[in-house]
Amino acid sequence: MADRYLIRTFGCQMNEHDSERIAGLLQSDGMEQTGDADEADVVVLNTCCIRENADNKLYGTLGHLKSLKQRRPHLQIVVAGCLSQKDRALVLERAPHVDVVLGTHNVHRTAELLEQRRRTGAAVVEVLDADEVDDVDLFPSALPVVRERGHAAWVTIQVGCDNTCAFCIVPAVRGPESSRPFADVVDEVRRAAAEGVTEVTLLGQNVNSYGRDLTLALRSGERPDAAHLAGPAWAASVPRVRPLFADLLRAVGSVPGIRRVRYTSPHPKDLRDDTAAAMAQVPSVCEHLHLPLQSGSDRVLAAMHRGYTSARYLERLAAARSTVPDLAVTTDVIVGFPGETAADAECTLEVAAEAQFDAAFTFIFSPRPGTEAADLPATVPHEVSVERLTRLRSVVERSSLRANRARIGLDEEVLVEGRSKRDVDRLTGRTRQNRLVHFPAGTPLRPGTYATVRITDATQTHLSGELVEVLSPPTHRTRIPVAAG
Ligand code: SF4
Repeated sequence: MADRYLIRTFGCQMNEHDSERIAGLLQSDGMEQTGDADEADVVVLNTCCIRENADNKLYGTLGHLKSLKQRRPHLQIVVAGCLSQKDRALVLERAPHVDVVLGTHNVHRTAELLEQRRRTGAAVVEVLDADEVDDVDLFPSALPVVRERGHAAWVTIQVGCDNTCAFCIVPAVRGPESSRPFADVVDEVRRAAAEGVTEVTLLGQNVNSYGRDLTLALRSGERPDAAHLAGPAWAASVPRVRPLFADLLRAVGSVPGIRRVRYTSPHPKDLRDDTAAAMAQVPSVCEHLHLPLQSGSDRVLAAMHRGYTSARYLERLAAARSTVPDLAVTTDVIVGFPGETAADAECTLEVAAEAQFDAAFTFIFSPRPGTEAADLPATVPHEVSVERLTRLRSVVERSSLRANRARIGLDEEVLVEGRSKRDVDRLTGRTRQNRLVHFPAGTPLRPGTYATVRITDATQTHLSGELVEVLSPPTHRTRIPVAAG
C-alpha cells in the first residue's frame, strides 16, 4: 500500500495554495492523501504567523504528534509555512521530534527533503530567503497540484510586500514584493482551464502594485493590449512598459473556459481606476472587492503606516462602486490598536456605517512579535476592545443584512461547492459577489456546477433560495463532496 500523507493548513489563502502544491508533490511521489493522522506516514503542518496564538497552536499540535510518533516511529513530521520561515532553528529546539523544517520558498523541495531525512537519519532545516531563490521557486504555482476544489484554482501573481504596516509580519517573513512574470500567470490559468477549472483567484499581498518590478518590451510606444502582454517576449531594443494589474485581469479574464476571476487583496492606497474599469468591462471578473480598511481614524491609520486617510478610502470606494455595477465590498478592521482612543473608535464606526460593507472580518489587535506595533505600549484594555468590536460588528451586521435582503427575489448565478455540512439536505454555493447561498439538494448537483438560484430569504451571513435551472455541469473530476457552512 502506498504511503499516506496528511496536511493541516493554518492561515491565509497563500498557505492553502502552498498546501495544494505540497499535496501535488507528495502525490507525484506516489503517496496518497488521508484525513486521519493515525493512518499517516507523513504529516505536514503548514503554519501561519499572522493569526493570533500561532506558536501555541503549532506547538500544541506538535505535542499531540509526539505521542503519535512514539507509537509509530516511522511517522515523518514536516513544519512548513510562515512560522518556520520566521523561527527556523527554533522549531527543532522546541520540538526535536520534527523531521523537516521547510521555508515558504522551499515548497518545491518537500519530497526530496523527506527522502534526505529517511536516508541520513538527521532532521533537515531548509529555509531560504526570497533573494536566495529564482522565480521558478518563488512561485510554486508551477508545481503539480492537488486542488481542494477541482473547479477552483489559486494563482499566485506576486509574493512579499514593500509596505510597512505596523501590525504586520508579512514583509519580514515573505520578503520584498516580487511580481510573477505576466505570461507565466496567464499560462498557468490556461493550463488550469484545460483541466476543467472555471474559477481562479489571483493571490498577492498587494495585488494593485503587481508589475511594479516588471517591464515588458513593446514593438511600439503604444500601450499594449492584454494579448500582447501575455505573448512572447519582445526584442530588448524596443520601448518597455510596466504591465498593470488591470492588464492581468483582462488577460486572465479572457482565457477560454474561465467563468469567474477573483483576486485578493488590493491595498486601498493603490486601488486604481483602471482596475475598476477592467472589473466592469471583463465579464468573467466578479463584482466583489475585498478592500481592507483596518481603521476609520486618520490618526490610527497614520500610526499603522497605511498610507491613506479615511476620506481617501471612501473616495476610492465610491469610485469603484460607480464604475462597477452591483459591486459587493468586504473589508478587514482591527480594533484596539495601541493608542486608539474612544474618539478613534467612533471614527471607525462612522466610516464603517458610511461604507456600507457587505461583510467584514473584524479583529481585536494582538501584537505579533517582530512587528513595530508589538513594541508599542498597550493602551486599550481588553474589555474595552471587546466592547468596540461588538459595536463595530453591529454596524457591519446591519449593512450586511440590508445588502443580503436586497437580493431577495433575484435570480443569482451560483457556483455549487457541495452539500452543506450543517444540513446535508441543502447545497451550498457562492454568487458572483461571493455571497453564500443555501438551497434544497432535491436535484443532486456536483461541486463545480453553475446554476441559477432564485433568492427567497436572507440573513446577515447567507442567502437561501430555490433552484431555477442548471446552467452548466462541472468539467473537472469531483473530489470533495462536502462544503463549508
Ligand atoms: S500591505 Fe500591510 S498588511 Fe498587507 S501584507 Fe503588506 S505590510 Fe502586511
